[in-house]
Amino acid sequence: MKSESERQYFLETVRNVLVVQAYADDFEKLTLKEKMLAWHLYRSSVAGWDIYYDQGHKHGLKVRNILEQIIENGDGIDEYLYDRILEYTKMFWINTGQYDFLTSRKFVPEFTFLEFSGAASIAQANGADFGFEEDIDVVLRALRRTIFDKEFESIKTNKNPEEGIDMLEGSAVNFYDGVKLSDLENFVEVNPLNSKIVVEDGEIKELVWRAGNDVVSPGLYAEELERAARELEKAVEYAPEGQANVLRLLAKYFRTGDLNDFREYNIAWVQDSSFIDFISGFIETYDDPRGQKGAYESVVEMIDVENSKLMKKFADNALYFESKAPWKDEYKRTKINPPLANVMTILIETGNGGPISWGGINLPNEQYVRETYGSKSILLGNVVKARNEAAATLSLEEFASSEEEIELSKKYGGLIADLFVAMHEVVGHASGKKSESLEGDPSEYLDEYYSTLEEARSDLVALWNFFDPKLVEMDLAPSIEVGKVAYDRYIRAALTQHRTVPEGDQFEEDHDRGTQMIVEYIRKNTSSIEIIKIDGKTYYKVTDYDEMRRGVGEILAKLMEIKATGDYEGAKAIIEEYGLKFDISLRDEVLERSKAIGLTDYTAIVFPSLTPVYGGDGEIKDIEISYPMDLKKQMFDFKHFFDEDSDEVVVK
Ligand SMILES: [Zn+2]
Repeated sequence: MKSESERQYFLETVRNVLVVQAYADDFEKLTLKEKMLAWHLYRSSVAGWDIYYDQGHKHGLKVRNILEQIIENGDGIDEYLYDRILEYTKMFWINTGQYDFLTSRKFVPEFTFLEFSGAASIAQANGADFGFEEDIDVVLRALRRTIFDKEFESIKTNKNPEEGIDMLEGSAVNFYDGVKLSDLENFVEVNPLNSKIVVEDGEIKELVWRAGNDVVSPGLYAEELERAARELEKAVEYAPEGQANVLRLLAKYFRTGDLNDFREYNIAWVQDSSFIDFISGFIETYDDPRGQKGAYESVVEMIDVENSKLMKKFADNALYFESKAPWKDEYKRTKINPPLANVMTILIETGNGGPISWGGINLPNEQYVRETYGSKSILLGNVVKARNEAAATLSLEEFASSEEEIELSKKYGGLIADLFVAMHEVVGHASGKKSESLEGDPSEYLDEYYSTLEEARSDLVALWNFFDPKLVEMDLAPSIEVGKVAYDRYIRAALTQHRTVPEGDQFEEDHDRGTQMIVEYIRKNTSSIEIIKIDGKTYYKVTDYDEMRRGVGEILAKLMEIKATGDYEGAKAIIEEYGLKFDISLRDEVLERSKAIGLTDYTAIVFPSLTPVYGGDGEIKDIEISYPMDLKKQMFDFKHFFDEDSDEVVVK
């Protein structure tokens, strides 16, 4: 196993996307039984890979297959053109279709239609199987506007269409065909989360996504869902008792498509806390302009042992840190039950879960189940780490103010990231209590400022505690010097985050606002942070760490007071003064420098690969984990995952 410092997270930059490798070191420590469970869940996840492409656009799968066939049969295509097609294909894989994940707008190739059809002809001569009977030229011409015309079906999900345009017709997403929003006024869906609405023979119909069984006929995605269900059932044999039932219930839902079955599954799932866990089904409804249809998503995860231990250590010492907090004693807790957010190591995410991944997940969504049975909250530890470390590594040399800062950050960066997350989540959010005279929850008073304030408060708790000797005593940090590196890293983040807002002059996202507020407050109210310029480039530099920590304590005490007393005006004042606005010329500079070094708008994840190892008797004797280090390789692995399968899935 590679040591943390030589580990490679950054793989490549594709247009505005950073591609990174996520690692799952603990997998090798699993028993064979646990590995077999993970293996069948992994297979179930891949089985549904195609679904989200089809949900995104009615031609999504067709276009993907043409692209993949050209890439796999590209001998003789002009090299420059081939690279352009590969680049577009990567964007297509990353976004699961031709709409940008962030903007929901269509992106188009950097090659012409003629070049494309020429390449397709060469691929066909090389034996490409495009999967349809018509001539490839005819098919390509029919897809021309879908692929090349940015203005045609320009938006995937359009919740605010222009005057006169219907919300459903103005969205390219494939949840509706031939219906307008007004057509649905008197139409009642039986399974709104997992169905497509179409018009057949002049009649509105609900086509359910289900595999079918003895009672109900197969619906849309029957083949994918049947295969996914079978893998879940195969996993039963290796699952702990409670989880076996969860697996059966999900398999049942995939076959019936009945939301009552999905509820049963969710109720069982939320009460199960197995070491290896999964999320699967039609889950988030953001892609549907009506907010009804669930995007297919499948995640396989296992407990991140190291980081869970770290969280536990902080939880055990939460009262100590509370007693050392720089705010008034009346806002200190004397009893704490820190919410132990589970840090999970992700083995795979497909559909709406990957390659672009969530950072945290809180499910199930159904309000009734949440209120009655609770919810599960997880942090996607290895994914977030890969994302952060790749970006930090890229930006370090460009944005660090000295060689020493670069060196120390390389040495301690990974450790600091883990400590920061643990302190933010466990010590930070759980800390402090409201004033006794305040009725209700502070969030009810602070409204739109609550999130920014609370995220900033938790960041500050982490920053404050980085200089507590307790960290060394708890054997979590080699020396107090680590705190200095954490401060360097934090103010550097305040500088580099300017790239996330290419237009306008203020931060919108809560965490960004919080970071800006903290650094600007300390910079303007203490003499510990300097903005320096070297060769026309701007750097943030800590000039006095003790003084900066004093500043951290000062603003932390203020924010705690605001939260404790539900002081809306106070929150508004401090956030608006320090957290919103930025200097446009600095933003432009940071944006330019970020682009030059390949820093991007968002990140795509390459997940670990699992491969069975067979013994002489044909039985699986181990499941090996490896890291593809290549997006293209992983995508083709998924594509051909079931090619050799003897267990053919046929649905009638
Ligand atoms: Zn937080």
